[in-house]
Amino acid sequence: MITIQFCGAAGTVTGSQHLIEVNGKRILLDCGMFQGRRAESRTRNREFPFDPKTIDAMVLSHAHIDHSGNIPNLVKQGYRSEILCTFATRDLCAAMLIDSAHIQENDALFLNKKKGRHRDEPDVVPLYTQEDALRSLDSFSSIGYDRPRLIAPGVTATLSDAGHMLGSAFVTLDIEDFEDKRHVRLLFSGDIGRPGLPILRDPKQPDGCDVLIMESTYGDRKHPVYEDDIRHFEQIIGDAYRRGGKILIPAFAVGRTQQVVYTLHQLARTGDLPNVPVYVDSPLASDVTNVFRLHPECYDDEIRAFMSQNGGRVDPFGFSRLHYTRNVEDSKQLNFLQGSAIIISASGMMEAGRILHHLKNNIEDPNTTVLVVGWQAEHTLGRRLVDGAPQVRIFGDMYENRARTEVLNGFSGHADADGLLAWVGGMAQRPKQAFLVHGEPEPAAVLAARMSAEQGVPTTVPVWKQKVTV
Ligand SMILES: [Zn+2]
Ligand SMILES: [Zn+2]
Repeated sequence: MITIQFCGAAGTVTGSQHLIEVNGKRILLDCGMFQGRRAESRTRNREFPFDPKTIDAMVLSHAHIDHSGNIPNLVKQGYRSEILCTFATRDLCAAMLIDSAHIQENDALFLNKKKGRHRDEPDVVPLYTQEDALRSLDSFSSIGYDRPRLIAPGVTATLSDAGHMLGSAFVTLDIEDFEDKRHVRLLFSGDIGRPGLPILRDPKQPDGCDVLIMESTYGDRKHPVYEDDIRHFEQIIGDAYRRGGKILIPAFAVGRTQQVVYTLHQLARTGDLPNVPVYVDSPLASDVTNVFRLHPECYDDEIRAFMSQNGGRVDPFGFSRLHYTRNVEDSKQLNFLQGSAIIISASGMMEAGRILHHLKNNIEDPNTTVLVVGWQAEHTLGRRLVDGAPQVRIFGDMYENRARTEVLNGFSGHADADGLLAWVGGMAQRPKQAFLVHGEPEPAAVLAARMSAEQGVPTTVPVWKQKVTV
């Protein structure tokens, strides 16, 4: 008998966690952080729907916080076995989990300070500290793509390229079910990428499976063709340059920043980038760019060909006009820049980080362009700019929004509905049943209906904590 319990990212996008039980062993797929309203997030992340001490093995699909972000807490609460992932995922997690712990610590500090007259309430403790994050790294164990590894009696795990971010994988579990004397192949998609994305290979096509657990982030959407988005990107930068102001690109430090930098470098080499300096103003982005440089095994042919120019000495993430600013002083100097410049900075949704300083200094200048390259959640500053708010609050003060905001969705790392259906349709052996996770209820429901109708795969959308037998 094999059971699956959907412990997170069920009916929602974040908090990816699925528990497989077979042959008397418990295997956890992903241990992501749930990101939502503060109080709900705190309880959901603090309390696992299972006892971490009872888990026998864990496999991690990729480094994004909604898949990896609760690992330090899992280890803190007694998980003692291995965390299996790719080499790049381990190295990205080293930077990202410590950064995440830093945010947890700062949040707790802020809440405790704010307590004021409710001083007798107990102090808020961070979900995990930087020390917890560091300690959890001891449990990581890396393997290359397509190298099967026995993780529990009768259970072999294989990681294959999901084309979604550096090191991302979908997980194939080949299970010898001793009790029912059968072989079952269970496939967990993690997040599936979009063909044509810079740097990364396209998602690998699996041969097939018996049971599929698949993401459904964009289950009801269609993306434009990637090449059209690049022309649009070039055009926005050109127009902004002609107006003469700063071009601010708020970007998630991991993945998105490197895609934008590499794309700018490509435009610079073909002479299609205006002659302006480019700054990456985010310490995490600088660290993560170094991790990207260490993992050429994850690159696609296009970036390899790009690097092989000039006798193989081209750095895709560095060119003469590009500067990485690490310390606060260098970052502050950017305030005094004269003329046009491109500044790439985090956070991607403009809720925190150095991008706020650049917005504060430039948003009242009608020559400024804010180029949005990532999805903006509701109630964020990023969403307000996209919606054209006439005034916005930054660090507690109101500013006139005179900047021009441009939106480019082309860098999205997720396959759209047709992409996901083509990935399933390409399997020689279609799944006998599928479960859709990692999606809001509406896109998940739309995709589930299409999976059944177009691919003939009986598909359900499980609810949080639901347990099924397959
Ligand atoms: Zn992801
Ligand atoms: Zn995700």
